[in-house]
Amino acid sequence: MRFNTKTIHAGQQNEETSGAVMPPIFQTSTYAQETPNVHKGYDYARVGNPTRTALEKLIAGLEGADECACFASGVAAMDALLKMFRPGDHIIATNDLYGGSYRLFTSVFEPYGIEFSFIDMTDLNKVKEAIKPNTKMFWIETPTNPLLRVVDIKELSKIAHKNGAFSIVDNTFASPYLQRPLELGADAALHSATKYLAGHSDVIHGAVATSNKEIMENLRFQVKSTGAVPGPMDCYLVLRGIKTLSVRVQRAVESAKKIASYLNDHELVDEIHYPGLPSHPQHNLASEQMDDFGAMVSFSLKDNSMKAGIKFMAGTKIFTLAESLGGVESLISHPASMTHGSIPKEIREKAGLKDSLIRLSIGIEDVDDLIEDLNQAF
Ligand SMILES: *Cc1c(COP(=O)(O)O)cnc(C)c1O
Repeated sequence: MRFNTKTIHAGQQNEETSGAVMPPIFQTSTYAQETPNVHKGYDYARVGNPTRTALEKLIAGLEGADECACFASGVAAMDALLKMFRPGDHIIATNDLYGGSYRLFTSVFEPYGIEFSFIDMTDLNKVKEAIKPNTKMFWIETPTNPLLRVVDIKELSKIAHKNGAFSIVDNTFASPYLQRPLELGADAALHSATKYLAGHSDVIHGAVATSNKEIMENLRFQVKSTGAVPGPMDCYLVLRGIKTLSVRVQRAVESAKKIASYLNDHELVDEIHYPGLPSHPQHNLASEQMDDFGAMVSFSLKDNSMKAGIKFMAGTKIFTLAESLGGVESLISHPASMTHGSIPKEIREKAGLKDSLIRLSIGIEDVDDLIEDLNQAF
């Protein structure tokens, strides 16, 4: 099956009793057993639910993975994954990353004795230098948030494996429509399904897809033991969202290219970050690693003040000022005061995140309306 067909059919079957083409929302907490531990594959809904299973099979199919485990949020998925590590273990992560990931690493796991190094992963030598005997995982985000840098999943995965570490990719920004980390050698792909997979800004959900038995065993153990599981209604919403993943993302990417080119020519724009522009430092890598360049665009203003960034955002009428991304509606945000507010200013600036930086998540509206909206905000 090719990708667009998989978004509809991967791992799916018509429901047995009625022939329903979409899986029912199995709103139940428990399942009848014939005799103790003899049942139809489900015993208690923290551990498993048929609506969730249908979604897990679908996401596994899209990522080319054997299995997938779903969680109540993207950070819950990360939390479960990280619990396979122990005090004294070391993790290398991208320095330009989702603010909530940074907070989870430094404020939750560091106090429990797990060490983190935040490295510019576009420089493979810096990554190699950061490796220690206790390095157990590379945490890769690409394209990065919010600077849209692209890091080399294939090379990093080789380096990780040579050093006995896992290579895990947060694939939220690209979605499997544009990038499939397992095909590039990564051990697992993680999603905040809240974003492109669900795609309608109406649910919080997370998933990890992997073919690695050790990782999956830990995830299933965490599902059962720490229980940050999604409800069946949420799983249904993500399932429904994925059916249109390819058409939504394709349209958003086409618009993002036009918007990036408009911003690139604008006199009030200082730096523009979009992997599809030939001037982007990793444009060639993005062309190889991704099927297209994504629908996230960020830019800073010539007037590089917090105030200027915030003022620009307040001026848009179609772009909604909001955190998050990947929905059908276009969103605008100001990382320095919003998503990345929890990252200290010195660390933010060292990573190149300017005070005026504005991040756009391009939706599926008419692109001319979006460009007119930005134009009047300038
Ligand atoms: C939103 C996001 C997360 C966290 O996911 P939630 O569903 O909000 O918990 C993790 N990584 C990236 C890149 C994100 O954009």
